Amino acid sequence: MRHRIAVIGGGPAGLAFARVLHRHDRPVTVLERESGPGVRPAGGTLDLHEGLGQLALDKAGVLAEFRALSRPEGQAMRILDTDGTVLRDWRPGPDDRANPEIDRGQLRDLLLGPVDVRWGEHVTKVVPGTGDGVRVHFADGREETFDLVVGADGAWSRTRPAVSAVTPHYTGVTAVETSLDDVDTRHPDLARLTGDGSVAVYGVNRALVAQRSSGGHVKVYAQFRAPLDRHTERDTADAGAVRSRLLALFDGWAAPVLDLLRHGTEFVHRPLYALPVAHTWTHVPGVTLLGDAAHLMPPLGAGANLALLEGAELAESIAAAGSGDPDETVRAFEERMWARAARWAGFTTAGLERLVGPDPAEALALFDQVQPPG
Ligand SMILES: Cc1cc2nc3c(=O)[nH]c(=O)nc-3n(C[C@H](O)[C@H](O)[C@H](O)COP(=O)(O)OP(=O)(O)OC[C@H]3O[C@@H](n4cnc5c(N)ncnc54)[C@H](O)[C@@H]3O)c2cc1C
Repeated sequence: MRHRIAVIGGGPAGLAFARVLHRHDRPVTVLERESGPGVRPAGGTLDLHEGLGQLALDKAGVLAEFRALSRPEGQAMRILDTDGTVLRDWRPGPDDRANPEIDRGQLRDLLLGPVDVRWGEHVTKVVPGTGDGVRVHFADGREETFDLVVGADGAWSRTRPAVSAVTPHYTGVTAVETSLDDVDTRHPDLARLTGDGSVAVYGVNRALVAQRSSGGHVKVYAQFRAPLDRHTERDTADAGAVRSRLLALFDGWAAPVLDLLRHGTEFVHRPLYALPVAHTWTHVPGVTLLGDAAHLMPPLGAGANLALLEGAELAESIAAAGSGDPDETVRAFEERMWARAARWAGFTTAGLERLVGPDPAEALALFDQVQPPG
């Protein structure tokens, strides 16, 4: 008997899961809230690690396409002092393919390929143990039943309450994101400052990071420690007011660095939330979580990588289990996922403390010592 499998969310976790199942001729229903693949900007760039994200793409059969699209030169990383002095200027070697960058939108399209997504499906609740399976409720009042529901629906997962009462907490750090377009022609100085990859500047309890995506697009993240209620204002329509607040917050930093904020057009507030390190739950038959839904952590280059690999690994395990009940497979997968995610959650949580903390020398030390967990 073929099991009815649904994955909620068409982000990195959900699409990797669906694509690998598709590769093994296993049907899966992908339920995504967005009304289509390009309706909202996909966001900036992601570096995919050899043993994580790239391994997942290999399992999905799209590693060669990734290699053709990705930007190994985007691994370059420059660190400046707040006065603009260059403290580190690291460039990858010609054959370094450890962590090439790819735009989020390109990654999505790569994984989508032949995968059939049901767009515009807003899931509100997942109810296990209904007798005939796991019931999925939609915002328009419909319900649908599956044998296995995989929650890959991100930080504010509607699937998570079916297995865990835990909700994300504020980390104490807020990021305000802005971007620059066509940087090579419109802002050549900032293009040089950012280089082929990223530039980061660390001050006391604040940091400014700029990352180049393809097509001359640069995303800028201003990060700072602040109480949640001061900086979560949703109204970022007044870009001038947000820019002025940021320039005041980073007052005294070198003018070329502040130009990254001066030339930013739109601003988006992103208070950084996380689930507790080593978040686990008592296994619930028929429901599981992947990616941020399972282990939201500070954005230090791991979340999308873990999400991709988990999606690919769970799909492979289910395919290998054949047509039997996948519940034991899911249970064993969860144990592996929890152990690996806990290592990364510990690493990224400690990393955020050092990168946006009272002693900027700690950020530099982290860059010099970095030994990410496997
Ligand atoms: C500023 C920033 C920078 C980052 N940089 C990096 C990086 O460089 N490298 C890295 O590895 N990670 C990075 N991350 C983390 C990474 O973005 C996430 O860990 C990753 O996107 C998680 O993938 P996911 O598939 O679990 O969830 P998501 O990417 O959040 O995808 C969830 C999907 O589910 C859909 N969805 C949500 N709710 C519902 C619902 N109720 N019904 C139906 N669909 C729903 C959403 O529309 C979305 O498509 C960064 C994060 C941030 C905030």
